[in-house]
Amino acid sequence: MLYKRSSQLFAEAEKVIPGGVNSPVRAFKAVGGTPIFVKSAKGAYLYDEDGNRLIDYINSWGPMILGHAYEPVVQAVIEKAKLGTSFGMPTELETQIAALAVAMVPNIDKIRFVNSGTEACMSAVRLARGFTKRDKIIKFAGCYHGHSDSFLIQAGSGAITFGSPNSPGVTAGTAKDTLLARYNDLENVAALIEANKNEIAAIIVEPVAGNMGCIPPNKGFLQGLRQLCTDNGILLIFDEVMTGFRLAAGGVQELFNIPADIVCFGKVIGGGLPVGAFAARAEIMNYLAPLGPVYQAGTLSGNPLAMAAGLAMLQALDTDRAIFQRLEEKTAYLAAGIDKVLKANNVTFTINSIGSMISVHFDAAPVVDFKTAANGDNETFKKFFHGLLQEGIYIAPSAYETWFITDALTYEDLDFTIRAIDKVSKTF
Ligand SMILES: *Cc1c(COP(=O)(O)O)cnc(C)c1O
Repeated sequence: MLYKRSSQLFAEAEKVIPGGVNSPVRAFKAVGGTPIFVKSAKGAYLYDEDGNRLIDYINSWGPMILGHAYEPVVQAVIEKAKLGTSFGMPTELETQIAALAVAMVPNIDKIRFVNSGTEACMSAVRLARGFTKRDKIIKFAGCYHGHSDSFLIQAGSGAITFGSPNSPGVTAGTAKDTLLARYNDLENVAALIEANKNEIAAIIVEPVAGNMGCIPPNKGFLQGLRQLCTDNGILLIFDEVMTGFRLAAGGVQELFNIPADIVCFGKVIGGGLPVGAFAARAEIMNYLAPLGPVYQAGTLSGNPLAMAAGLAMLQALDTDRAIFQRLEEKTAYLAAGIDKVLKANNVTFTINSIGSMISVHFDAAPVVDFKTAANGDNETFKKFFHGLLQEGIYIAPSAYETWFITDALTYEDLDFTIRAIDKVSKTF
């Protein structure tokens, strides 16, 4: 396949946009080469500027769980656009999507809509701090909660106690309030809590991690976090920006039957428009302005086009709950197929998967946290990525990303993908 026009468009973009992209991971830095420019998408397929058709396993990094240009979402947006695109005043639509989200997700009474997952997580932490009157938070190495300052903290000696900025621009003052723990390591979390008695406002976690490849929680990990939080007056924040309305109608809280105190959403909840949200029981949500002292706002929050898209998406998922089972079966089928061909070609690998999330790691050891995820062989991943691209299959241009299975993918698409992986892995 040729990607000529994409390369030209990227060269033009680089002149006026830093790195040619509006979000860094799109830039192919981890795999080399130049990004594919998309012209359109429908169902399971992307159509690029060179006229190639690609089977899409990224799906806008998660939102398009029903496939691209899902008709009810597209129609809802078109109809609403005709009535005006933003008012900065309340609309009935906001109450409708809020009521549906509250009905679908366990343990929440109220929800507030924002414009991105980043905003949701940032606001959730502010709310937790205001509610508990404490400053520090615990996050896990390898978990991503958007690009706000508190979350851009990397592990390293000394970081455990003081935090150290890993992006220039994050002040040492901000970094010191973020404590880092190892994913799937409860003892590590308990030690941090012990060393910071009565200072920790919240533990924020991807309850199924998806930003270091797909890493499900070990048995007892989430339950253990719940207990530690309850025992120590700490709020447990589930960042379900990726997993919400994806792994179950009620997300990971429902899947594993573990209640969080605050839940963050994004991606699927917006049906492909820029939407995030955070939610909790009324006692906590009432701390937000205008009812309470914690300030949080947004000119375009609850935007009618975004709410129309999100509502159409949630309604589709709510009325067809069998979808989560279908997605899980497709994922298991793909995982089994990949396992078979990689073994036949003597490739060293580990496959992690749960629900509609799956990742292939080029390392034999179990991948359970950031350190083990980083052990994967990136040279093999690069060949894998570019080989699949030549076959017309688009996976994320980074070994640290999850693939997303959508309802639009057919078993023929999955078989085609498995055959392509067989072919590509013979060239490793
Ligand atoms: C994508 C993601 C975010 C950030 O959401 P944006 O909409 O990109 O700001 C936060 N948390 C998790 C778990 C995510 O996957």
